[in-house]
Amino acid sequence: MKRVLVTGAGGFIGHHLVKRLASTGHWVRGVDVKAPDYEQTSAHEFQLLDLRRWNNCLQATEGVEEVYNLAANMGGIGFIEAHKAEIMHDNVLINTHMLEAARLNGVRRYLYTSSACVYPGYRQISPDVTPLHEEDAYPADAEDGYGWEKLFSERQCRHYWEDYGLETRVVRFHNIYGPLGTYDGGREKSPAAICRKVALAEDGGEIEVWGDGRQTRSYCYVDDCVEGICRLMQSDWRQPLNLGSDRLVTINELVDIVARIAGKTIRRRHDLDRPQGVRGRNSDNTRLRQVLGWEPGVPLEEGLAQTYAWIHALLEREGRIKAPLVGSGSGSELRR
Ligand code: NAD
Repeated sequence: MKRVLVTGAGGFIGHHLVKRLASTGHWVRGVDVKAPDYEQTSAHEFQLLDLRRWNNCLQATEGVEEVYNLAANMGGIGFIEAHKAEIMHDNVLINTHMLEAARLNGVRRYLYTSSACVYPGYRQISPDVTPLHEEDAYPADAEDGYGWEKLFSERQCRHYWEDYGLETRVVRFHNIYGPLGTYDGGREKSPAAICRKVALAEDGGEIEVWGDGRQTRSYCYVDDCVEGICRLMQSDWRQPLNLGSDRLVTINELVDIVARIAGKTIRRRHDLDRPQGVRGRNSDNTRLRQVLGWEPGVPLEEGLAQTYAWIHALLEREGRIKAPLVGSGSGSELRR
């Protein structure tokens, strides 16, 4: 039984990853500053630790073979644009201390979860964006704050391999979504925010959309994300690797898909003063296919149907909506 550590185990992807690793025969220690919000953890041991602190990183990495470092102070575009100093401070401390503690404790493999936010702004100025492949990260012009920290920590991982022989893996996520992720309160990402707004809207009603809605993104379902993480960790690939879908959609299309799932007619009110990030971003999956012999496969309509059903059920439980969810316009089977 391999002993592994997942940090950020109280968060969205970390919680799903813990479930997967525990169900595939690993002994899992989860660490976070908070317990998972919506479900009990499947970790064999769960420690509440602030990983900005050196001693806590030493404690967290003690006696494990592998580290999956997902802990980060982060959120959607509204959050990362408004908290740059805090994000850089916290995340540089977390990864710097985690890497060094992992090295001192003899950890064999270390995964760092980077982001598509490392890609330069000058390559993402059109909705009709050319998909980004891994080398495009340089010459660097990353997303201010959050993206620069990710790029810095990617390089730190590379140097820990070069100088100390610590096997590091670096994955660049592109918009991961799914059930059990933050859907309210300011840190939520666009798919969860749109599901919440559509669920709360009347049939025929209106929702606010940030920007003109013509900005484009690709979205990857969390089960695919976890599969990709596990495959990368088992591979010999030490360079950063994209992990995302390469199906490009506009935010307006995303709203329309969710509205169809909800069985509602929804009008979009565009707020041009809200942050909307880069104009277009897509993942080039050529390297992903070569390295992992696999790529994400859950269709957006299916993943969103699962996500919408989960958010709808929670809003109903909170008493914020009365009408039960009747079915899916996408034809997907909705689990409730
Ligand atoms: P999340 O916010 O749900 O999870 C991050 C977890 O880290 C949270 O539970 C948080 O409490 C924990 N954390 C924050 N500060 C901590 C600290 N000082 N000590 C211990 N734990 C701390 O986010 P997520 O979506 O699950 O993201 C996981 C990782 O993937 C992060 O590194 C994130 O930057 C990266 N990522 C995510 C996406 C995405 O679309 N979700 C995209 C790109 C990169």
